[in-house]
Amino acid sequence: MDDFDKRQTSMKSVLTCGICKKLCKDVTIIEECCHRFCKNCIMRKVREEKLKVCPECNTDLGVAPWQKIRYILQF
Ligand SMILES: [Zn+2]
Ligand SMILES: [Zn+2]
Repeated sequence: MDDFDKRQTSMKSVLTCGICKKLCKDVTIIEECCHRFCKNCIMRKVREEKLKVCPECNTDLGVAPWQKIRYILQF
């Protein structure tokens, strides 16, 4: 039972957006650290807040953060 709960929790965190804390919509991944966000959330951060680090772990995304963000169609 405990193991099952842990699996459920980790599955959920994999699909949870680090910005809005909801289930990812149009999952987008940061290649540097494999953190996942909604496409809209991460694109807005990059565009409006000039995001240069991963919002989740502060990994440096360099001068062209959008080049390290990959939109994945599955999920
Ligand atoms: Zn989001
Ligand atoms: Zn990260």
